[in-house]
Formats: sequence, structure tokens, C-alpha cells
Amino acid sequence: MKAAMYYGIRDVRVEDVPDPQAGPGEVVIQVEAATTCGTDVKMYNRGHVIVKWDELPMGFGHECAGTVVEVGEGVTKFKPGDRVATHNTGPCGVCFYCKRGQNSMCENSVSIRGAFAEYVRIPAAVVRQNVFHIPPGLSFQTACLLEPLSCAVYGVDEIGIELGDIVVVNGAGPIGLMIARLAALRGAHVISCDLSGKRLAVARRLGAAQTVNVSEVADQVQAVRALTPQGRGADVAIEAVGYPEVWERTVQMARRGGRVLLFGGSRPGTTFTVSTELMHYSQLTLKGVFHTTPLHVSKAFDLLCRKVIDAQTFVTGRYALTDIVEAIEAHGRQDGIKNEVVVRT
Ligand SMILES: [Zn+2]
Ligand SMILES: [Zn+2]
Repeated sequence: MKAAMYYGIRDVRVEDVPDPQAGPGEVVIQVEAATTCGTDVKMYNRGHVIVKWDELPMGFGHECAGTVVEVGEGVTKFKPGDRVATHNTGPCGVCFYCKRGQNSMCENSVSIRGAFAEYVRIPAAVVRQNVFHIPPGLSFQTACLLEPLSCAVYGVDEIGIELGDIVVVNGAGPIGLMIARLAALRGAHVISCDLSGKRLAVARRLGAAQTVNVSEVADQVQAVRALTPQGRGADVAIEAVGYPEVWERTVQMARRGGRVLLFGGSRPGTTFTVSTELMHYSQLTLKGVFHTTPLHVSKAFDLLCRKVIDAQTFVTGRYALTDIVEAIEAHGRQDGIKNEVVVRT
């Protein structure tokens, strides 16, 4: 089959590789749709914690949906011909973290490798917990949004947005837009911030009540606070960009007693600074969040089935597999929102 293989930083090649085979508990799908993600951009530009540097090349991409073509021994839930949505990882369920419901930090998590390929092998732990039958009316492209949406659902759940909260979301990329949509669904008054007017227009369509174009204001923190009663700040301030300076600004947007969700993964080795005075007297709650759990994957799948978000909004570009590098670079330039990589010829 043809597959995009990751050889290292800025080195992704489309090659002929052996077709994957389903081991016990596994399934192989023919990829019908695959999409780019900020994680792919990071991995392409600077590497990523998920890269095992002594095991390169590795399959590239992690967001896909497809048709089952082979099932391994013991698989009863799926059969060839089934249309399925899949999350990219599966936790073990039995390690220290899994037992505490913190499956995102599972010590034995397994993941699919190489969504940008004609076929993908889905490991048993993923099949068992995080693969779903696609109902009629749900497209493969929309099903590709399962992984990012499940991360957004987890973040929103962890920070506990309530009816009537003022929620500022910094960043209107795929994750920021999904968080804005989910916060609006929870009954929050959402303020969306981004450098792109186009993306802010999408945020408004998804439920943001107000927007701040960061390129048009001298002081973003003041601009956001000015939109809150008495300038007191947001009940919940969320970072979905991945820059330490935005983490710092996000903290400064929270009201006294407010909650801060720091979602965007930053470059390794970076740090951020918080005023001890602010942290202490404002009684802030700062929360980091990474990835998701099977509970939130299943919630995200239900939300996709109910058309809470869809590919029409989130998948804005289409590239052939041979143009994978351009698809990733365009995502990185923030041309559009996400790109579909068409693997079937
Ligand atoms: Zn992703
Ligand atoms: Zn585990």
C-alpha cells in the first residue's frame, strides 16, 4: 500500500509499504478519510513526545475513519464492510492512572500509526474501547473529528464550565473552535480570541457571543477584561494555542476565583510565569490537560452523531496523499482550519 512515513523533522515520504495485518483483537480498515491535526504539524516541524526516534520511519497521521477490511481473532463487534470511526489511542485500563480514571496518562497506552495511508491497523485496546460504528448520515470526514473533539470534550469537562459563565477561549484553530462550541452548548457566554478575522467569523457561527481580533488590539488582556462586567475578567479562561506567552495572558484574563485551562502543548523546554500575588489573592485554579479518556471519546462520538460540529466547518482543504507535506504546511500556516488527505486513488 501507499503510506506517508515519518523519517524525522521535516522529512515525510510517501512510500510503498507492506499492507498491515490484523492480529488478535485488532482490525484493519481501509482509510476513507484522514485529516491533518496540529499535532502532525508539531511532529513535522520539531518532533513530538510520541516519536520513538530509534524506531523510524513510522507511519504518519492519527485522524482517520474507514471501512473494516479484516478482523483479527476474537473480534466480534466488527466485521468486514463496517464503516467505523476510530480514536487514535487506547489506554490499558489497569495501570495506576487508568484505575484513577486518568486514562490520558496511561503508562501502557497504544496508538494507531499512520492515518495517511491506504490501510491502518487498529490495536486491540483501541478496538475494545474507542472504535464506533458510523450511523447513516455521518460522513467519514466528520467522523475524522472524533479525536480532536474528544480532547476538547475532556478539557471542557475537566474545567467545569457552567450555565452563564463567561468563558474566554484563546485561539480559534480546530481545538479552540471546538471548545468554543462546547462551552456555548454548556450555556456559557463565549469570548473567542484569534489573529484571524476569518477564524473568528467561524467562532461566531459556532456560538461565540463576542470576539477579539488580537491583531487589532494593543493589549489583549485589557480588551478581554473590558468585555466582562466591571472589567473583572472571565469565570473561565482557556488557552488553545500552545505558546507560553499566551498561557501567561490567559491566566491574566481570569477573574478573582476564576479557573484557567491550559490546553495547548508548547515547545519542549519552555516555561511560563505567573504572578504569585495574582495566584494567591485571586485564588486562581490553574489546570493543565492532555489528550482524553474513553469516557470523553464516547461522549464526543455521540456529539458528532448529533451534528454538534461537522466537516463542512472544520475540513477546509483537500490534498492528495502525494501532497502530504503541503497539506501539513498549509495547516501550519493556518490557511483554513483542517485539511483532508485523500488516500484513495
Ligand atoms: Zn489530532
Ligand atoms: Zn493504563
